[in-house]
Amino acid sequence: MAYDYDDNNIFAKILRGEIPNDTVAENDHALAFRDIAPKAPSHVLVIPKGRYVSFDDFAANASEAEMVGFMRLCAEVCESEGISLGSGNQGFRAIANSGPHGVQEVPHFHLHIMGGRMMGPMIS
Ligand code: 5GP
Repeated sequence: MAYDYDDNNIFAKILRGEIPNDTVAENDHALAFRDIAPKAPSHVLVIPKGRYVSFDDFAANASEAEMVGFMRLCAEVCESEGISLGSGNQGFRAIANSGPHGVQEVPHFHLHIMGGRMMGPMIS
């Protein structure tokens, strides 16, 4: 399946170091940084370092090493942000807006991890 990746998207620029970011955690396959306009006390974006447009692109085409690297970094973020259920915290919301109907603004796959407050209704 073909996905058309735009190398000029803002997260590609962040990965190339052309735009600064507030890094929370990083490994070989993924980067986690704070959202510039946080919607919760803790609002971290986790992105793969590979060129994936959307959740479905990543799910279909990423290698197992990339997937594991990405997911483990998500777990690390939940832990360091103090929102991991495994450590007895209150939890969080993880969202991957995908495409026009998902109202995805930046066309590089990213997972929003938001916590630190009670979330509202999921759909709006
Ligand atoms: P989307 O709607 O694509 O799921 O969300 C994109 C997110 O990226 C938004 O929450 C927005 O605040 C965030 N964002 C956009 N530009 C930047 C930026 O330059 N730096 C950071 N850290 N976040 C950004």
